[in-house]
Amino acid sequence: MNYITAKTILTPVNYSSKWFGIDYTMNLYRGCNHGCIYCDSRRNIYNITDFDTVQIKKDAISILRNELRHNKKGIIGNGAMSDPYNILDEKYELTRKSLELIEKYNYGIFITTKNNLIIRDMDVLKRIKNKLISITITTPNDKLASIIEPNVSVSSKRFKAMKKLNENNIPCGIMLLPVLPFITDKTNDIKKLIKLAYKNHARFIYPSSMGMTLSENQRTYFYKKLDESFPNLKEKYRKIYNDNYTCTTRNYELYDVFKQKCDDYGILYKMSDIIKIYRKDTDKQSTLFK
Ligand code: SF4
Repeated sequence: MNYITAKTILTPVNYSSKWFGIDYTMNLYRGCNHGCIYCDSRRNIYNITDFDTVQIKKDAISILRNELRHNKKGIIGNGAMSDPYNILDEKYELTRKSLELIEKYNYGIFITTKNNLIIRDMDVLKRIKNKLISITITTPNDKLASIIEPNVSVSSKRFKAMKKLNENNIPCGIMLLPVLPFITDKTNDIKKLIKLAYKNHARFIYPSSMGMTLSENQRTYFYKKLDESFPNLKEKYRKIYNDNYTCTTRNYELYDVFKQKCDDYGILYKMSDIIKIYRKDTDKQSTLFK
């Protein structure tokens, strides 16, 4: 078992209005085993060696308990930099234990995951007053999902998990992020994804910029995987990205289609509307967490 030391588990943030209304980020683990070929957390700036091996933060739960007892109440975001429902969580259940504490100390939770393992924790999630779940789905096609996100539930299982969460009054929507040029950016696929989202009761779809980032280590890993699974695409990427971090080739056109379809189905997609699903009063925390 790989352990790393940590002094804190919660990190306060001041961008709650921009990212799902969260007041803290939380990471119980370091690294992720899901193997997404585009993962932004491989970037050099994060300095995570051996990113694909999950490590547990030593004493994570007791550090978290102490922080929850003393910090100001707020919404805790879990799922950036590492999927909280990773291979180690199946056995050690740190995510479940953290949710039990979040319930006990009356905080709120926002979770991002790709793993239908989240269904395991529905009983605790139901008891947390302010909660919102986002399941990342980048393609409606299971075969393609198993190539670009090889070690986690395929898209159809994620759609089913979302439906089940919503049927149990745990609001859940889709993170449509990233959109891979030439791979997941087909207009018909985006339309199909939105239709499936509607059928499976999605409360929202958040598309961010309808694109993907590419930088340093992340770029090296992604190009290696392109060579293995999508021969000839690397050169096309080189042309549209050069050495840039982002590329906006089709983003605007796709966003218009996306917006129209979401409007047709009545699905929320603007961050300010999504936050209101579970955070009715962003200015008065004392009212929210009474
Ligand atoms: S699930 Fe998230 S953190 Fe894990 S590899 Fe995929 S993109 Fe990276």
